[in-house]
Amino acid sequence: MRLALLRWSGRQSLISGVVTVLFALGLLLILSLQINSSYRAEVQRARDEARNLAGVLEGQLGSALREVDLVVNGLGLQLQPGDLSSPDLGEARNKTLQSLLLDQLAQIRQLDNLALFSPDAVLTHRALDTPGSNIPLKAEALDRMRNNPFIERDYARLDGKGGLQRPGLIIVHRVEITPGQLDGWVGATITTQYFDRVFGNLALGHQGVAMLVDERLGVIASYPPQPAGFEPDAATLRALRDGAQEGIQVRQTRIDGITRQTAYQQIGDTPFFVAVSLSSNDYLARWHAETRYYLIGGALLMAMALLMAYFFWQSRQLSTHLRSKEKRLDASESRFRQMIETTPVALVLSRPGDHFITYINQQASQMFALPQATALSMRVFQLYQDRLDFLNQLENVRQSQPVRNLEVRLRRSNGETFWGHLSMSLAQGSAGTTLLIGISDITEHKALESELQRRATTDGLSGLANRAHFMDVSNHELIRAQRYGRPLTLMMIDIDHFKRINDAYGHDAGDAAIRAIAALCRSTLRDADVIGRLGGEEFAALLPETPMPMALLVAERLRARIEAHELVIPSGETIRFTASIGITPLEPGDTLIDPLLKRADLALYDAKHAGRNRVCQQQSALIP
Ligand code: GH3
Ligand code: MG
Ligand code: MG
Repeated sequence: MRLALLRWSGRQSLISGVVTVLFALGLLLILSLQINSSYRAEVQRARDEARNLAGVLEGQLGSALREVDLVVNGLGLQLQPGDLSSPDLGEARNKTLQSLLLDQLAQIRQLDNLALFSPDAVLTHRALDTPGSNIPLKAEALDRMRNNPFIERDYARLDGKGGLQRPGLIIVHRVEITPGQLDGWVGATITTQYFDRVFGNLALGHQGVAMLVDERLGVIASYPPQPAGFEPDAATLRALRDGAQEGIQVRQTRIDGITRQTAYQQIGDTPFFVAVSLSSNDYLARWHAETRYYLIGGALLMAMALLMAYFFWQSRQLSTHLRSKEKRLDASESRFRQMIETTPVALVLSRPGDHFITYINQQASQMFALPQATALSMRVFQLYQDRLDFLNQLENVRQSQPVRNLEVRLRRSNGETFWGHLSMSLAQGSAGTTLLIGISDITEHKALESELQRRATTDGLSGLANRAHFMDVSNHELIRAQRYGRPLTLMMIDIDHFKRINDAYGHDAGDAAIRAIAALCRSTLRDADVIGRLGGEEFAALLPETPMPMALLVAERLRARIEAHELVIPSGETIRFTASIGITPLEPGDTLIDPLLKRADLALYDAKHAGRNRVCQQQSALIP
């Protein structure tokens, strides 16, 4: 009967909730750490990359400029004094110089044009004479070189503002054919075409910038030409120029919402700097994608944690609910227990599957003289005298036929049997089906009933059947005998001069004589014969299966035994008495016992008149 319920402790649920929250917090922490560290790694990678690219670019541009130096120096060696004095040196020399310049120009791809100038900066010869291929020398730079013979070359920015002129770089070399004498200048230009090519080969990403700038922030070449969100950092360039900082410097800037890692490096000892700038839109692209995945993963885990928390919360609710339900059930169970323990009816519960007793109340325990604990190891049909009774009742109950107050013979544990009123039903419960049996002991009721029955049918004095019962049973026998054509006889016995016994010895002696006659009838006749006291000292006996001759013999024997019987009466005296017997057989027309009684009475009358203590017979055929 005890209900086994799953017990969820509230504390466990609470701990589970706390664990979920901790899990969520830990997840957040790990996610943010991971995102942050991968951000730092990406930034560091971008800085290294910018630094590398700046190094590569400086190497390329530096060697390009050194190549130009070599070419220009080589050119100087092939010039003769006077070559730079005038543009007009005669056709032959002019052509020689022109082809010399073209040869040199062809040697290095980075050069745009190459030209010779007189000491006062007048153009004398040039390799190409195409529009936009001027080499504008700067007077200021030339002056500086004139004044300082140790300055061998000068670089200037070609700003590209002069109409067809393309932006780029001008390199001017002093020419000293005669040592110690300024014979003129060689000028060379490198235009942005070359730089574009070099820059274009760099892996800069979509928004990367490569730039060649001079110390005054003049842009010589830029890729792309108008970079968005990027300006070279003047302070860094100054520091590099002044030697305050050396090597490659990386700076982070944020302009127009774009964060950049820019590496600056001076090209050799030139006044030029390369700047390589990488945009956060490029170098963080992967990080953005990764972060998205991290966040999606984190969100999924978070959702899981929340779901788990929700389920824990639900289970907590459930456990609370179950606990309160359990309490209510406990209460109703104890009420139920009290009820079935106090009910006057004996109750037995059993499992219909194996018929084992699952519960027995105190009344049943007493009724079957069976301890409650012992009952639980027994099967319910062991309480029956005949287990077939149980199986029949169970079958009826299973077929929904009521089993109510059936009289059943039951058996106590000591083997004693008794009558019980039994009701049976099947009850559906949460733990399955239970067979409910209610029993009340009707032994006393049964005894009373049979006593009443006995009293209603028996004559109190003689213990024989009374008149009504005798008539009943005799009619019954008569019908059977008639149906099967079997012989049957009826005799009537009357004590002779009974009044005298009463008068002489008292009423008690008369009663003793009546009891003696009854006993003699019983011992003389067969068990199957019906003997009754019809009234007073008059008796009747019905002899089934007995034809007349045999009945006459039996009657004669009875008469003789009565005559021979010595009756000790209450006063202590011994008396003797006789009886007369009238006898008649069953005849075909008899449908009731009454005509037989009448005939036997007539025969008895004959016996009395013939002198008593004798047997007379009466047959309808003999009736006149
Ligand atoms: P008979 O030989 O002609 O039968 O003579 P009888 O004296 O037996 O005559 P009767 O049948 O008229 O007498 C019956 C008497 O039996 C009458 C009554 O006082 C007596 N009697 C009837 N019932 C009882 C009884 O239960 N106990 C006693 N002691 N006497 C009874
Ligand atoms: Mg009599
Ligand atoms: Mg009589």
